[in-house]
Amino acid sequence: MARYLIAGAGLAGAVLARELAEGGAEVVVRDERPHVAGNCHTERDAETGVMVHRYGPHIFNTNSDEAWQYVNRFTPFRPFINRVKAVTHKGVFSLPVNLHTINQFFGEAFSPAEARTFVEGLGDDIAEPANFEEQGRKLLGSALYETFFDGYTRKQWGCEPSELPASVLKRLPVRFNYDDNYYNARYQGIPEAGYTAMVEAILDHPGIKVELGQAVAPGDGAGFDHLFWSGPLDQYFGCQLGKLGYRTVYWTEQRFDGDALGNAVLNYPDMSVPFTRKHEHKHFTPWEQHHKTIVFTEFSKATEDGDIPYYPVSRPADKALFGQYAALAKQTAGVSFIGRLGSYRYLNMDLVILETLAFARAFKADPGLTFPPAVEEMLAQ
Ligand code: UDP
Repeated sequence: MARYLIAGAGLAGAVLARELAEGGAEVVVRDERPHVAGNCHTERDAETGVMVHRYGPHIFNTNSDEAWQYVNRFTPFRPFINRVKAVTHKGVFSLPVNLHTINQFFGEAFSPAEARTFVEGLGDDIAEPANFEEQGRKLLGSALYETFFDGYTRKQWGCEPSELPASVLKRLPVRFNYDDNYYNARYQGIPEAGYTAMVEAILDHPGIKVELGQAVAPGDGAGFDHLFWSGPLDQYFGCQLGKLGYRTVYWTEQRFDGDALGNAVLNYPDMSVPFTRKHEHKHFTPWEQHHKTIVFTEFSKATEDGDIPYYPVSRPADKALFGQYAALAKQTAGVSFIGRLGSYRYLNMDLVILETLAFARAFKADPGLTFPPAVEEMLAQ
């Protein structure tokens, strides 16, 4: 019987463990943290009773039947639609940028067609936007771009918006109707019992042993048939070629009675405000009743030693360094790299699940596989 070690009990590690165990393998999943679920981890706040997303809110959203069926197999989901507001020096606006935002911002009452023509007229004439800033100025024009995106992005990423890929902005829709649903996804929700319960259910299999509070060192794979590493790729190699750039986020907490923000998420794009957003976690579970409330204010900064890596910065230099580490990884036998940190990408939860499932299928046929098939394809280009 094959024996595998998985470093990391987050979503990627758990999904892979389940697939391997269902295939008959014996799997040890080790995580340095005292809990499973990685950055999706949820727990009840002792004082308020609110289900708190310890490492920032996660709202599951996907267009994939496979991903939606997969998560619902392990835990019941409740519908949750994220309706974000932007608090700016010009007022409070609806996000993502939609017809309400445009009409309120310009003091107009445009129809969808009028708004589209108007905003298209504002956009800079850039044929192929090469970066985040060009994408924003082309799509929205300078006034909307600067109010909602420029400051937020500088605070969130700590660099010039022109240094970031256009794909970061493409995460957000621009709508010429009054739809203020933050995501375009067909399926959206939050697990009723939290993400940690969901990941515990994924890991609940007789072939899986979970060991918490224990870091995995690269050499620990020696006693196993294969090591699957869902931590940062550069960390596996002792950062010998240099460090991949990540942003980290951190929060201050405040507790109040009643309703503090009136919404789950408020974004603060102004540069004069030092934080990026506030979250009031009880609004992520509208099916629960709580008299008290807890608010998290989110700040962003570059990672230093000991910080949790959240967002890969993906500037050209980082991408080049990732390519060098990927080449090293492909020359290294007995280890594969999975998940957001293993492949240095800004991945939503559904893609982590889908790519890990695809990896598990491909690994059965080719145990020499280093990365999920989508990453292998990207590297081959
Ligand atoms: N963004 C922005 N203003 C906002 C919200 C988002 O400029 O009010 C930009 C910012 O660069 C951010 C990116 O769009 O990093 C993606 O936003 P998203 O809400 O998807 O970020 P996440 O929730 O993944 O942190």
